[in-house]
Amino acid sequence: MRPVRHLAVFAALGLTLVAAPDAPDPWQARRILMVEKQLELREISHPATLAAMRQVPRHRFVPADLQPQAYDDHPLPIGHGQTISQPYIVACMTEQLAPTRTTRVLEIGTGSGYQAAVLAEICAEVYTIEIIPDLADQAATVLRSLGYKNIKARTGDGWKGWPEAAPFDAIIVTAAPDTIPPALLAQLKDGGRMIIPVGPKAGAQDLVLVTKRAGKITQRPVIPVRFVPFVRERE
Ligand code: SAH
Repeated sequence: MRPVRHLAVFAALGLTLVAAPDAPDPWQARRILMVEKQLELREISHPATLAAMRQVPRHRFVPADLQPQAYDDHPLPIGHGQTISQPYIVACMTEQLAPTRTTRVLEIGTGSGYQAAVLAEICAEVYTIEIIPDLADQAATVLRSLGYKNIKARTGDGWKGWPEAAPFDAIIVTAAPDTIPPALLAQLKDGGRMIIPVGPKAGAQDLVLVTKRAGKITQRPVIPVRFVPFVRERE
């Protein structure tokens, strides 16, 4: 009722309503729909993951001509033959890590920087490594312009992880190696969780949840996936 009464007052005074400087972000409605239809209906339920994906402006992480598709239910090309994952895959991987406000997470495969931003909304610190310098630079620029202060980014081969900052509560790998990099297993904290696509270059990859308890590694396949290959520096 109240807004109607306000409108009547405005009309009576002969004033025109203009968009306030803090008017809602026009992309926000699309994000809310994305979370509802693509995530909640597919049983993503971790509240912090859903909140982060309602918050992060995914359209800022895709090439300008693809922005209209930024909230659609599929991956998108980001240049150099690489892709930003489908929103559902980002949500699924984030949820599997069970991140909290105290989590320190390592990401291999910064790509567009979108997954790093989603994690930065939830976690204490995000460390992210990208092997293609151009993508690393672009992601760093976007993340800086959005004001993220808890992301540390580096360019290089993530096969060896980030030993100086280890151990990590959580590790997420967004390119698929044939086998789990041993250094990443070593850099996972006891009680920690790693989510990683594993499998050959074309097809037949599984998203695998790796846990470490009392030094013992357990692996569980979550869903079949198709990721870009994990590249080694020497290749
Ligand atoms: N997480 C990204 C998805 C990027 S696609 C996002 O949110 O947009 C996977 C990325 O992994 C690509 O950018 C690719 O260059 C990178 N990558 C592949 N092998 C790598 C390696 N050994 N070390 C670091 N990054 C790697």
